[in-house]
Amino acid sequence: MRVSWKLGRFAGIDLYLHPTFLLALAYFGGITHGSMAMILFILLVFACVVLHEFGHALTARRFGIETVDITIYPIGGVARLTRLPRAAGAELLIALAGPAVNGVIALALWGGVALLLDGGMSSNDGVIEFCKILLSANVLLGLFNMIPAFPMDGGRVLRALLSRRLGRLRATEIAVVLGRMIVIAFAISLPFWTDDLGTLFIRLALAAFIYKAAGMELRNVRLQEAVRSPNEQAVQPPPGYVWVLQGDGVWRLAPAAFSATVGMNRGGPGWG
Ligand SMILES: [Zn+2]
Repeated sequence: MRVSWKLGRFAGIDLYLHPTFLLALAYFGGITHGSMAMILFILLVFACVVLHEFGHALTARRFGIETVDITIYPIGGVARLTRLPRAAGAELLIALAGPAVNGVIALALWGGVALLLDGGMSSNDGVIEFCKILLSANVLLGLFNMIPAFPMDGGRVLRALLSRRLGRLRATEIAVVLGRMIVIAFAISLPFWTDDLGTLFIRLALAAFIYKAAGMELRNVRLQEAVRSPNEQAVQPPPGYVWVLQGDGVWRLAPAAFSATVGMNRGGPGWG
């Protein structure tokens, strides 16, 4: 049974909200004494997290991978893809797309603030202050997700980059070990810089979630690699690109024109 509430369907993808998100909203609304600005801020950050997840989902679609649904939790969003890309190039682009969305939002807010200041608005104005905080939140969201704690986006980027040299299994093992070291260090250090119990709890939950998710992905990759055959590559390349199998058994994206001339073109209908 699904406990999350469906908020709607956008670009053919169902968007859900986990009920615990409301608990977090009530909690932070409570500690700020129900400040309307704080509630609005949390809702806007929520919207930015949704856009971040759609960045992943719509990029995955370009590689022929559909998204089952997107669910927003207090610790962030999760886009459930029908399958994960095996090719390093696809994983790299899909992982980067989320933080890139936050980068674009931050740039847009920066432009907006500059326009308002140009228009004669005082830099102390509440609207400017609010935009600046939302801008910072997006920069933080983007940077936070790029921490190489697999399976966070940064960890996926690392795995994709390592896959090119080491193969997918070894790359995953390294990314998982590094990610777990970061998560453990984060969890141990938490009491030193957070004394708010609610924040501590949410961050510990995030650490536990990442630790467990990393182990599950590693197990999946081990299973997949055990049954792997070269023709299993079922991910569609974006227009103008084809998958090219390199000597180390890792698939890479290459421009179609280039690979056709060197006879490595494995793309085209009926392939894979
Ligand atoms: Zn992400």
